[in-house]
Formats: sequence, C-alpha cells, structure tokens
Amino acid sequence: MARITTTFYGTRGSIPICDPKYLEFGGNTTCIAFLMHSTNRISILDAGTGIRALGKHINENFSEQSAIDIAFTHFHWDHIQGLPFFDPAYNPNRTINIAALGEGGQFTDLRKIFKNLMIEEYFPIQLENMGAKFNFDFKEDNIYENKGILLKTIKQNHPGGSFGYRLEVEGCIIVVCTDLEHGDTINEDIVAFAKDADLLIHEAQYTDEELLRHKGWGHSSFNQAIEVAERAGAKQLIMTHHDPDHDDECLRKIEKECQARFKNCSLAREGMSIEL
Ligand SMILES: [Zn+2]
Ligand SMILES: [Zn+2]
Repeated sequence: MARITTTFYGTRGSIPICDPKYLEFGGNTTCIAFLMHSTNRISILDAGTGIRALGKHINENFSEQSAIDIAFTHFHWDHIQGLPFFDPAYNPNRTINIAALGEGGQFTDLRKIFKNLMIEEYFPIQLENMGAKFNFDFKEDNIYENKGILLKTIKQNHPGGSFGYRLEVEGCIIVVCTDLEHGDTINEDIVAFAKDADLLIHEAQYTDEELLRHKGWGHSSFNQAIEVAERAGAKQLIMTHHDPDHDDECLRKIEKECQARFKNCSLAREGMSIEL
C-alpha cells in the first residue's frame, strides 16, 4: 500500500510554454502535490501555473479537505504565478495556508508578496476578494514537526535565495531541491540534506555546456543532479524545472543519457506520479 503519492503538476522552469513540441514533458511551471494516504490530505509545494489543474483536481476529488497547505521554495514568478488561477482559493469554505520555512529567508512578508501579485494593475480580482480564508506563516527555522510529519529545509544558492525541502513521513524520505546553483563543485550540504532519500527531486535546467554560459543564474545541470543522487545514496531521482528551450525530443535524448549513468532516474513529466 502506498503511503504517499507525489504528483508533478508543473515541470517547466522559468516560463510556461504552450507548444506541440512540449506536450510530453509539459509546459506548466513548478507545482508538486503530495497526497498522504493515511489522512487522504493533499499538500502542495509551489504554485507555478501547474497549480491551475491541481485546483480543479482538488475541487473534484477533495471537496472535504477544508484546509490546503501550500509551501514555497521561493517566490520567483514561475513558482507563484498560478495562485490567482487556483480554484479552491475562490471557495469561502476553504482555508489556504501559505507557508515558507527556512532560516535566513530574505522575504518573510508572505501576505505582501501574494497581495502584490494580485494588485489591480496586474489582475482583476484582489487577494482579499478571492473568497477563501488565507493564513500566512513564515517560520524562521529549518525544522518543523507536526502530527508525525517532519519537514526540514536548507538554504540554497539562488538569486534572492531559495529553500530545499526534506519531508519525512511514515518512513518515507522525499527531498526536493529546485532552483539551486552548486558552484564549481557539488555543494556538500545539499548532498547531506538529500542523504538516503527514497525520492530525490532535483532541478536540472541545463546541460553541462549550458551551465557554463549561465553562471550566476541559479540553476544546476543534469550531471550535477545525478552526482547529488549518487553521493547521497538516493534510491530514485527525478529531474525537473526543464529549461524552456528544451523540447520533448531534446529531453528524451538527455533522459536516455542520464539513465545510462544513474539507472533509477527520469525526467519529470506533467501528470507523473510516484508512489512510495
Ligand atoms: Zn524556478
Ligand atoms: Zn528561481
């Protein structure tokens, strides 16, 4: 019996893409859902444009879940832009808990971030008029425990800062490290953070060659993601945050090369679910 199901609703980095050459891996930006089977509750990491389809899924299948938790790795556009299109946030019977966790976070006024996203200049409906009750909670801490769920974060090297998340629940370890730049060598702290993960979700925006041309842009390469997985002893690796210039054909080719090096790895596809 599966204990937790992880589903990718958005796999694209930087900007959503609508193009027939991008249908296999998907064009929506970062959004990952975690379904805990023991409680039948869905939690969300990041609200890129993929959260739109997730909202419809929640409305159809989780009408009883009154409170929905959305945690954020950081607040770049491709991780927040879908929130105004998240249907459950228009339901007065729902509570949306917007949360971020992490010591040394630069942006702590979460209400302000999301209020600004929806000011009249940018969007017809303002946050306070959406309907749902919103709670905003920034915790200046790298560890959070609640009802048998242990959440840890790590500050990552990314312009403006971002946080990796490690979720430990019912004996499953899931680690998500997206929007991070390792530097010339792999960041040892990230390897330690991902130690023994059953599922490591690591971004891989660039090839090695592309990475050289994008120093300081805050991202990793496929080979770096594999190196973290190998050294951390991760059982399974899924690479995500696909570059907008990488179409399906390009990603299929890269995936084959990656699998030749690390057997239990694949590239995230929109709609893909992993059961643990
Ligand atoms: Zn991003
Ligand atoms: Zn970013």
